[in-house]
Amino acid sequence: MQNDEHKIFEENIPAYSLGTLDAEETSALEIHLPTCASCRNELAACRQISDGLLMAAPPKAPPAALRQRLQRRLPSAQKTNRPPRNWSFDRLALGFAIIVLLALNLFSLSQMQSFRRQQAQLTHELQTSQTALAMLAYPGTQSLPISAANISGALLLDKDRSVAVLIIWDLPQLPDNRTYQAWLVDPQGNRTSAAMFDPDPDLPFTSVTIKSPNELSAFTSLGVTVEPAGGSRQPSGSRVFRIDF
Ligand SMILES: [Zn+2]
Repeated sequence: MQNDEHKIFEENIPAYSLGTLDAEETSALEIHLPTCASCRNELAACRQISDGLLMAAPPKAPPAALRQRLQRRLPSAQKTNRPPRNWSFDRLALGFAIIVLLALNLFSLSQMQSFRRQQAQLTHELQTSQTALAMLAYPGTQSLPISAANISGALLLDKDRSVAVLIIWDLPQLPDNRTYQAWLVDPQGNRTSAAMFDPDPDLPFTSVTIKSPNELSAFTSLGVTVEPAGGSRQPSGSRVFRIDF
């Protein structure tokens, strides 16, 4: 008998935690609670869930007319002997499902955006690699080695066609607030920004297309410096290497 009574109380706890249990059942449950540790635990768990939902869901009550219409349809409103199961429990489950779906949607969206960024990055790398391959197959291309401590690579340079690709092995990763920047230097010593780049953590080498506003034959060397993220108008950081041509 004691156990059957407990079951009825236990079923009322979700509604009680939301404050939607009717007055008679509320006072009965409040007499039972101090005598039953199991019900107190259940109530604590329900409060945790409902507090979470209140934080996450828009604070809008259903219109009173709708609420009454729904309540009239409930078994508890139809005078059965079955212990009432409060409709708020279903709403609780529905609210929870909606929040899970919203979270999943946001997660998918951010994943999709990250895939798009990766795809754009890969397309860019592929184009640079194809340019480098095409240049290597062309007899007019010069391959000028990089000479710097712990870094190797080459500048593939075709002055006639004004195309240049930099290929660097073992270039160290930079902190997020720094970037590598390449500069073309003319005979007067003027520097023109020619590329900004960061090593791909998944590749052992970095390939960079050098973009020149003028014919490449107007320049005599190429330098690479470390600059603040977003690049600088003129070189301001430490030089990584320089190639004369
Ligand atoms: Zn109990």
